[in-house]
Amino acid sequence: MPLPRLLVLSLGGTITMTAGGAGGIAPTLGADDLIDAVPAIAAVAEIDAHSLFRLPSPSLGLEHVNEVAREIRLAFASGYDGAVVIQGTDTIEETAFALDLLIDDECPVVVTGAMRGAEAPGADGPANLLASVIVAASAAARGLGTLVVLNDEIHAARFVRKTHTALASTFASPDLGPLGMVIERRARFLARVPGGPKFQVEGPAPAVALLKMTMGDDGRMIRALRQLGYWGLVLEGMGAGHVPGEIAGLVGEVASHMPVVLASRTLGGPVFTRTYGYAGSEIDLIGRGLIPAGFLQATKARLLLALCLEAGYGREAIDRTFAAYR
Ligand code: ASP
Repeated sequence: MPLPRLLVLSLGGTITMTAGGAGGIAPTLGADDLIDAVPAIAAVAEIDAHSLFRLPSPSLGLEHVNEVAREIRLAFASGYDGAVVIQGTDTIEETAFALDLLIDDECPVVVTGAMRGAEAPGADGPANLLASVIVAASAAARGLGTLVVLNDEIHAARFVRKTHTALASTFASPDLGPLGMVIERRARFLARVPGGPKFQVEGPAPAVALLKMTMGDDGRMIRALRQLGYWGLVLEGMGAGHVPGEIAGLVGEVASHMPVVLASRTLGGPVFTRTYGYAGSEIDLIGRGLIPAGFLQATKARLLLALCLEAGYGREAIDRTFAAYR
């Protein structure tokens, strides 16, 4: 039996970083260097590796993700069985979610990285890369959309979050737990998640703002928003999706001019829709036109809203799209 054929794309991140002249580590290694450092990969899959970028992941944008999605779609159309994307962990949860929205294919897409630099004792990059190749080559991973694999755990793009600045166990899916694990070099799945919406857009995406609500917020950032050229807003509300009562009217006014999605600043659980009835509560805000994000964290809601706007969706279509996450 021929081995599965995988496309491996490296974008940069700590996994590619070594000590540079300027002090501190920076991206230097390419996809081939990373693959060559893990001989066990050769027994799992046939690899075609490319270094698309050498960037720290805070410098990645939706335009980079669009390019990655394009490469992967082309690869799947020409017969590849899966894809692995290597990048920095800071933005993995956003990149993976955007890829999940932009790639409509049964073939597995796995995003991975590392918490320790390539030269650090106990570097986790090689193990994460091998585990990712195993998942991307696995028939059991087909139809699960984009996955994030680190620390031998397999997470769904829509739920995964970076929860710690330093630990190799940083990635978690607070609402669900991992979908599976890589054990004895085999991908084992314990759960599946339903597929989400898909988009066929090429960018550039319209600008969407993200504002976190804080105690005593007087709304001056929200007031300034309309002059700044944003097409939409994600409001990261308190608790189940709340803002101070004094600014509820202002929020409603913004929602009459641009789509405003209501997310939660907590670490898990959905935005409520029918419990609290005071000024600034979720019932009040939804009544003023805000769109509840469901279980989607604010950073992912921002990407989804940007793609909806790029696709030309109006308020009703945006609401229907977010309903998939409620
Ligand atoms: N700052 C780094 C980045 O996101 C961290 C990492 O790669 O894990 O590129």
